[in-house]
Amino acid sequence: MMPANHFEVAVIGGGIVGCAAAYYLAESGLECILIEKNDIASGTSSRCDGNVTIVDKDPGFDSHMSLVSQQLIEELYEKLDRPFEYRKLGSILVCDNDEEMQAAVDWVKTQREAGLKFNVLDQQDIRKESPFFADDIPGGLECETDSLINPYLFCYSLIDKAQSAYGLTVKTQAEVKNIVKSDGDFTIHTANGDVHAKKVVNAAGVWAPFIGKMLGVDIPITPRKGHILVGARQHPVMMRNVMEFGYLMNKFGRERIADERTAKHGVALVLEPTESQNFLLGSSRQFVGYDPTIDIRVVETMARRALRFFPKMDDFKIIRAYTGFRPYTEDHLPIVSAVEEIPGFYIAAGHEGDGISLATGTGKLMEEIVNGKSETIIPTEPLRYDRFKKSEVFA
Ligand SMILES: Cc1cc2nc3c(=O)[nH]c(=O)nc-3n(C[C@H](O)[C@H](O)[C@H](O)COP(=O)(O)OP(=O)(O)OC[C@H]3O[C@@H](n4cnc5c(N)ncnc54)[C@H](O)[C@@H]3O)c2cc1C
Repeated sequence: MMPANHFEVAVIGGGIVGCAAAYYLAESGLECILIEKNDIASGTSSRCDGNVTIVDKDPGFDSHMSLVSQQLIEELYEKLDRPFEYRKLGSILVCDNDEEMQAAVDWVKTQREAGLKFNVLDQQDIRKESPFFADDIPGGLECETDSLINPYLFCYSLIDKAQSAYGLTVKTQAEVKNIVKSDGDFTIHTANGDVHAKKVVNAAGVWAPFIGKMLGVDIPITPRKGHILVGARQHPVMMRNVMEFGYLMNKFGRERIADERTAKHGVALVLEPTESQNFLLGSSRQFVGYDPTIDIRVVETMARRALRFFPKMDDFKIIRAYTGFRPYTEDHLPIVSAVEEIPGFYIAAGHEGDGISLATGTGKLMEEIVNGKSETIIPTEPLRYDRFKKSEVFA
């Protein structure tokens, strides 16, 4: 037993990544505290969609990490006490034109060769998905293993179990103001008292660079803003998540045929039916710093894009809009890693638009890294912090 306010591990940031890391660290038997500036899930993890997808991942490491994370969520669905609106229905991508359709067929081939459950959908299949779809959509593809969760409920579900079963301490309304390392231990100065820990995990999402700075560590994560519109409950439009093929192009910064406004605001259709059948309509991608203001031009562009695929939704009611910040890294992979120059300091951040999909894999891997395990659930190399030192980001 450690003295009061002393812990083996302190996790900073109560978003989905910090909650998952704290869960697995506490489950492994470590005395662990989760420190959050505001409330649990008050950052990006409550200002997003809840898609747990492989459909939008690059084949290879990216999709492998997603598959492992999906398997962990399925396990947690059985293990956690509080429900989190888990629905394993698969998800689909729809194409705008014949060129995209050809690219979709190739995408399915590559993903199937990698052993993933992808299928091509033709025009008839798309019509069967929803009566609201435009008649001229040439087709698309589906990934059978994709699922939906409510990220906000998932965070609370993880914390609830970690507290009651594994002794996790949770400290909210405790913004970390500074961190000092001396005699091998960290003193974390928060707005609500000091905490001492042998190890610190920085899971502060888009704010991870500010935590890094406290210890002289540069973390190349940039906020990439996204808007979401929330639809009133009316006719069920879809039963599972749908994105357009152009979403992949925006996410990975690849060339895409789109009109000027759509391209400028990084707009591509994402429609997520929530469990209560409010739909969440996205998406946009912009580098505009930490300004959360809703931009009506972006909202209009998103609504217009939705009508391309769902023309019959033109009289549907939108009840509100919100924005969130994706923690962007230049190679589209998160940082899940020790920081060699500060022994005992770790980073679990930088998941861009994939943090809901990858949180469980990240949390489990962080537990294995902190505990010094030689065998890990996924390879550690692609996620190392020092990979950026070889790039221009640090130059
Ligand atoms: C519009 C939009 C849609 C998205 N849709 C999806 C999706 O469908 N599927 C998917 O996989 N991903 C999606 N994402 C991405 C996903 O939401 C993020 O990758 C994920 O939420 C990041 O989680 P996090 O825990 O790293 O960060 P956060 O949830 O932001 O958590 C970080 C926490 O750190 C806290 N913090 C910051 N500074 C301090 C401090 N000094 N002291 C203490 N605490 C601090 C913050 O208050 C915050 O709660 C979407 C993102 C956006 C914006």
